[in-house]
Amino acid sequence: MNKNILIVSNWKMNLNLKESLSLIETLKKQVDTKRTNLTHVICPQFLLIPEVSKLIENTNLILGAQDCHYQLNGSFTGDSSITILKDFSCKYVILGHSERRSYYNETNLTVKKKSKICRENGIQPIICVGESFIRRKDGSYMNFILNQIEECIEPNLDEVIVAYEPIWAIGTGETPLNKEINEVKEKINLFLKNSKNVKSAKFLYGGSVDSNNFNEIIIGSDSDGALVGGASVKEEEITKIITNADFN
Ligand code: PEP
Repeated sequence: MNKNILIVSNWKMNLNLKESLSLIETLKKQVDTKRTNLTHVICPQFLLIPEVSKLIENTNLILGAQDCHYQLNGSFTGDSSITILKDFSCKYVILGHSERRSYYNETNLTVKKKSKICRENGIQPIICVGESFIRRKDGSYMNFILNQIEECIEPNLDEVIVAYEPIWAIGTGETPLNKEINEVKEKINLFLKNSKNVKSAKFLYGGSVDSNNFNEIIIGSDSDGALVGGASVKEEEITKIITNADFN
């Protein structure tokens, strides 16, 4: 099987300028320019974007962002516009991360508006969904996730990328079983196809992915790649994930 793998590094609010440049230099040395089945997207803090963008020019690394506003510009103090992201050749934006949903009260409707402006500007949104531990335990997780998909994603799209990130797995060292991830993948893909008329869907898993479990989870759950948080800012971890990622 020659599968294309998408790895999205979510640096969150970590790494200072010096640390990020050093990590990028390391990653550049690890990038096999002939390798075409692996896409590695780096999502740094906004202020790091200009420097990171410059450093990854003409490499296989791709720039992403951790959020964007749903308007092109205006009186939105503290926010950043998709126009600037475009100026720095950003290709992906993570939207609806559970941290943004819980700390900034981001709703499905906001995610949908942000997703729309991304698409209008040629940037691919990565829509995060995922349930709490309580919902996993009481069995309401699937309805909750499908409702997030229903409300965050516009219909009739050519390509959608969803990152399934159970909240209870983020930064905890806990991960779902591969069959549990696969169950969510199958249901989301079916819903996207049948209810949203989406032509092609990519499914990422996120939550406590590291160099020890990456291949096992991604192959075992038949995911298209991973959204990696904590391990993505650790030089040794992320280089191991990248160099060992092999689904052929
Ligand atoms: C995340 O927050 O997107 C994430 C996947 O975090 P971690 O890998 O640290 O669990």
